[in-house]
Amino acid sequence: PTLLASRSMMSAASRSNPDAYDEHGNRRVTVAYGDGIGPEIMEATLRVLKAAGAKIAPEIVEIGEKVYERGVSSGIDKDGWESLKRTNLFLKAPITTPLGGGVKSLNVTVRKTLGLYANVRPVKSYAPFVPSLHDNIDMVIVRENEEDCYAGIEHRHTSEVTQCIKLITVPGTARVCKYAFDYALTHGRKRVSCITKQNIMKITDGLFHRVFKRTADQYPTLESEHRIVDIATAQVASKPHLFDVIVTLNLYGDIISDVAAEVAGSVGLCGSANVGDRAAMFEAIHGSAPDIAGMDIANPSGLINGAIMMLGHIGQRDVAVTIKNALLKTIEDGIHTADIYREGKNSKQKVGCQAFADAVIER
Ligand code: NAD
Repeated sequence: PTLLASRSMMSAASRSNPDAYDEHGNRRVTVAYGDGIGPEIMEATLRVLKAAGAKIAPEIVEIGEKVYERGVSSGIDKDGWESLKRTNLFLKAPITTPLGGGVKSLNVTVRKTLGLYANVRPVKSYAPFVPSLHDNIDMVIVRENEEDCYAGIEHRHTSEVTQCIKLITVPGTARVCKYAFDYALTHGRKRVSCITKQNIMKITDGLFHRVFKRTADQYPTLESEHRIVDIATAQVASKPHLFDVIVTLNLYGDIISDVAAEVAGSVGLCGSANVGDRAAMFEAIHGSAPDIAGMDIANPSGLINGAIMMLGHIGQRDVAVTIKNALLKTIEDGIHTADIYREGKNSKQKVGCQAFADAVIER
């Protein structure tokens, strides 16, 4: 159950939107293949979804590099937005963020436009089947998804002086903290840890912690605590059993979730849900991995896990469980992509991206 996002909220929203379903009752979902390894892992994921009988109707849209090249600075064009307006549901492969000025991060734009304020990233070790630094990792990172240094308020004052504004608000903090506590309650979790740097950023991070404490008071059955981000990140790597649900600011959550995923085995294993009140987007936590693009060696598990969370979110829990079990069985059987393959350990067969999807489908 920890892999499924808040399903009831989305199901209610989509039921009230008749455009969300096609004439056969399939849930429409906007799908983007992205850049780099995106097309490979999306193809693998859609094949698994189809084989498991997911009742979805994908609407394929183009995003990322090709759209930026057409001069669309947001990386998503009119067709993409129209589809998202219809579906309010996005299954997205990673994209390459162009460096330099003039273009915006598509990820940040979509999160802000759709109001996706909570980024939910479950991280679990698959011990002993996937080597990890610790066998007992089972945490969920809830990352604030719209504010902080990602609000896009960045200036060049002179050629030598630049500035990025860290934006932290009471409403933004309150809703992500409430989401984290509700998530803990509905998913049988015991403790919520708030992570900030309030000893240095007393006003912004101080506000986040204050609002967290106020929210915690409304959940007397859950434990709550606060940790400073530098030592907390080190502890995520050295003593992950200390953590159950983490709620934190956008930038810290971005970093902590990659650390946790790598410690648990590979950044290629974890999926994420970007959740708002009316829309949701599901993806892998990693990027477009240009270093291995087009080689059919990427691990599609992160995006498959994102798709599993999506199915839970739209009320197709049985299909979600079927795919999760098949994914776990594939990993337990030692069928591993290169990132988690270890000769002489529990790996039996090194496979590429599509062969891994075939093995999941077989199971
Ligand atoms: P990355 O996550 O793409 O890759 C980091 C390392 O992990 C690489 O060595 C890569 O080969 C490996 N890796 C990542 N996913 C893997 C998988 N599924 N299987 C096997 N190995 C995998 O990080 P990066 O190189 O810093 O970023 C590349 C691009 O992706 C950048 O343009 C970045 O801005 C973008 N990005 C996009 C998203 C997104 O679309 N949500 C998220 C993060 C980064």
